[in-house]
Amino acid sequence: MQHLLVFIIGPAGSGKSTFTSSFKDWLLSQNVPVSTINMDPAVESLEYDPDIDIREFVFVRDVLEKYDLGPNGAIIASLDLAVEYLDKVTDQVNELPEGYVLVDTPGQMEIFAYRQSGRYIIKELCPLDRKCSAVFLIDATICMEPYDFLSQIFLSSSVYYRFRVPLLALINKIDLLDQKEREKIAKWVSEKDALENALEGIESVDKDFTRKIARMLSEYMEIVPFIPVSSKLSENFEEVYYYLHQIYRGGEDFE
Ligand code: GDP
Ligand code: MG
Repeated sequence: MQHLLVFIIGPAGSGKSTFTSSFKDWLLSQNVPVSTINMDPAVESLEYDPDIDIREFVFVRDVLEKYDLGPNGAIIASLDLAVEYLDKVTDQVNELPEGYVLVDTPGQMEIFAYRQSGRYIIKELCPLDRKCSAVFLIDATICMEPYDFLSQIFLSSSVYYRFRVPLLALINKIDLLDQKEREKIAKWVSEKDALENALEGIESVDKDFTRKIARMLSEYMEIVPFIPVSSKLSENFEEVYYYLHQIYRGGEDFE
């Protein structure tokens, strides 16, 4: 049975759960088969009804009470505990109908992206014969300044190198930007030297270093598609689907 697992990753509040919900609805409206998995053991309520839910096995509030941990410790422990149930989750994934499988990940990105449990979850859910990809969400409203944008791209590249699956970077919440701000983001994303030029204009003690980083990340932006979207308004979802479809159908690069 053929699935394409799409891990939805990004900092807390970037819109992972909102995207999972609205992209699922959008795919269904296009008659594209899709299922959803909630891997966030701490989420209290969701806008979508997940087909598979890690909270069925571990729920952070129970862990918090049982082990007398603080909120961050409990989320870390919950995800570590979730690993114990991965064979059950894998069985459920195998039963899902053919098509896209959107995997919503924990609010606090670093717990999933940088701890061992996150990598283990991806490894278990993505055996060699299953196609996998990731979507990295960036909150557009916190990257309107060149240095802020640069640091968000850095973050997405770090996830890309940790998981080594085909990745799309989505600049989310563009409905909150005015036309000028949208154009600025579009330029940084599509014109090779635009971000470097914007950084050049800022007074800085480390210009040479900044230039090198900007060039390196501009090469990264040639490998990974960057797509401005609004999860709230389902804006630009056609483009997201276009790239995911290429991954699903075989081509892992986007030539
Ligand atoms: P998560 O922690 O990454 O799962 O983020 P959520 O999906 O819970 O979203 C965090 C907040 O951002 C919520 O209040 C959402 O309604 C809001 N949000 C998410 N996507 C968008 C978007 O495209 N536009 C706007 N305006 N708000 C959004
Ligand atoms: Mg969430």
